[in-house]
Amino acid sequence: MRGFLSGTFAAVLFLSSILVMVRAGVDPVALAIHIAFFVACLTLIGAWESLAPWRERTARTGRRWRTNIGVLLARDGFTALLLPLGLGAVAAACAAHGIGLFNIVEAPVWVQYAATIIVLDALAWLAHYLLHRVPTLWAIHEVHHSDEELDATSVLRGHPLEAAFRLLTYLAGVVALGMPAHAILVAVLLRHVFSTFHHGSMALPPRFEALLRLVIVTPIHHRIHHSAAQEDYDSNFAQIFSVWDRVFGTWREDAAVGNDAIAFGLGEARMDDPDDLWTLLVHPFRRAREANAGTAAAPAATGRQAAA
Ligand SMILES: [Zn+2]
Repeated sequence: MRGFLSGTFAAVLFLSSILVMVRAGVDPVALAIHIAFFVACLTLIGAWESLAPWRERTARTGRRWRTNIGVLLARDGFTALLLPLGLGAVAAACAAHGIGLFNIVEAPVWVQYAATIIVLDALAWLAHYLLHRVPTLWAIHEVHHSDEELDATSVLRGHPLEAAFRLLTYLAGVVALGMPAHAILVAVLLRHVFSTFHHGSMALPPRFEALLRLVIVTPIHHRIHHSAAQEDYDSNFAQIFSVWDRVFGTWREDAAVGNDAIAFGLGEARMDDPDDLWTLLVHPFRRAREANAGTAAAPAATGRQAAA
């Protein structure tokens, strides 16, 4: 019953956000294309997973998928309501008022695109690093790490507050650089593709993956990040370009137990039912209440503070 109610809540939030966006002047066709792109990406990686599975799926897969889709609906529904703060809207306002580097200095279009993609990806590394290092943010990001299997749908499992935090981090870059809205759109779509890819549970030819990993975050690189062992999940924060983990010293080549034996999830900080949508949506607030009550029931956050 609770699963049904929280699923309905997420669906209603998502659908009403679409209405809000359309009423605010967002082109419904562009919106539909965006959603179709997202679904196509998920379907393609899902098909690849089925053709070349890295590990056998477990009995919990069906429920995980429903829950991950529920989190996505709540997350995107919530962030769509932040429309005036959306990256495209802020970019347009900066362009109109001559704010930010590219709105002051003429630069070739390819430079603007490259800078937008690279800077947003560096900021994605920074946001992810902070999500792991700051205890309040970790309580929010734990929702993403609660998934005990990893596949393309895991990318959907991100708390609405995490999406809002990431948005604020990216806004700093959008304003400073005066990023063009069309370049931001390309960067955002690229991130969809790469994030879905590196959460994917497909097996790649090992030598090909090793080569690719030198530049791009691959499934193995990100699987290590989703390990329940702290020395593993405190590394490999990059999103598109794996080089950020080299540059900032957070690269981890192999998981503690070996890459084929990784156990995913939160380990000792496991939630009672990590595949229950309501449990995931209220998790950061439950952690905050525990912290306020001064209980010792926040092992991951406490451990994180000690490690930071
Ligand atoms: Zn993480």
